Amino acid sequence: MKDFLTLQDISLSNKRVLIREDFNVPITDGFVQNDMRIKAALSGIKEILDKNAQIILMSHLGRPSVGDKTHTLLPVAKRLEELLDVQVDFMPTWPPTLSDNKVILLENVRLLEGELENSDALAKEMASLCDVFVFDAFACAHRAHASTVGVIKYAHTSVAGPLLVQELQMLDKIMHSANHPLIVVIGGAKVSSKIDVLRSLYQIADVLIMGGGMANTLLAAQQYNVGMSLYEPNCLNLAKELIAEIAQSGCELVLPQDVITNTGLNKMLVDLDSTDKICDIGPKTIDLFNSKFTQAETILWNGPMGIFEDKKFANGTNALAKTIAKSQGFTVAGGGETIAAIEELGLDNDFSYISTGGGAFLEYIEGKKLPSVVALTEKMRGI
Ligand code: ADP
Ligand code: MG
Repeated sequence: MKDFLTLQDISLSNKRVLIREDFNVPITDGFVQNDMRIKAALSGIKEILDKNAQIILMSHLGRPSVGDKTHTLLPVAKRLEELLDVQVDFMPTWPPTLSDNKVILLENVRLLEGELENSDALAKEMASLCDVFVFDAFACAHRAHASTVGVIKYAHTSVAGPLLVQELQMLDKIMHSANHPLIVVIGGAKVSSKIDVLRSLYQIADVLIMGGGMANTLLAAQQYNVGMSLYEPNCLNLAKELIAEIAQSGCELVLPQDVITNTGLNKMLVDLDSTDKICDIGPKTIDLFNSKFTQAETILWNGPMGIFEDKKFANGTNALAKTIAKSQGFTVAGGGETIAAIEELGLDNDFSYISTGGGAFLEYIEGKKLPSVVALTEKMRGI
């Protein structure tokens, strides 16, 4: 059974269509620094424009307090105009005085009273702007705000946009019908923040590779001396349980064997002392991890292998990105820092799919229901 309506289910001609996008992009001195999220939204916007509808776009930007005008979406309007080659009218005030222009961008929804609280009053005001509401901000689907949930309920018609549909299809494919061997690589800072993701993934993966700060906690649980490294002493039991669960499941767990310390030394785990701080995986570990990818039909990657923001400690993450990019299998990556690392290397077009979601990507993989998707389903069923 269908979970929600999409653009294919409705008529858009001469309709006023409000689209919730994720235009939360980095802006410096009034210019958009990275337009990946705007580009990801373009095909959906063009599809709706081609159906002869008027488009009103809305998004959040950053985490401003209500009314703080420094977080304006005006630079996004300018960039969007260049990318679409269509005039974009920007509406700085709320409620907006809508023009007849084909494409309109509203000001940052987080400047509005009631957005974060998912207030009914604001959601109704938003809904009253349109005939059809399209939710296409996958990266915001895990937040229950007025522009991501409330408006879905109050709009006359609410549907899922093409980017949302594509994201859910890709992630469903990985989680439910991936070709095997499926190799999952997880890194990042803390095991506690991704424990539910790990528990969900070892059940579907043939091999689970773990690096980054989170691996330190598992290594400490295996009695290695992780010294001054980032690790979570209060999660040692959890780490032991996890190692046992994975062994029971039949999934192969692969952990680092050697590391790069803060002084730049390459050390085997047994040689670490109490003053060492693990900052990256070492060359033997890179070879070990790479060897696991040769037969992979599917690879899912989330989380850097080291403190990659510092070039000295980016080797492991970069090596991994390059190997996955070369794989013949179906390759998917997601997560804020992971995507930043891939983009920095210019490898974004070498992956089969890069998710636009950070938190939403992880929550969906955990098996959690995304509030915006739930709201779309309830809308369709008339709940
Ligand atoms: P993502 O956003 O891709 O899901 P996370 O937010 O989980 O990734 O983790 C990214 C952070 O993990 C990076 O800022 C990186 O510096 C940090 N990190 C990775 N390895 C280590 C390590 N060994 N020690 C400290 N921090 C680490
Ligand atoms: Mg992150």
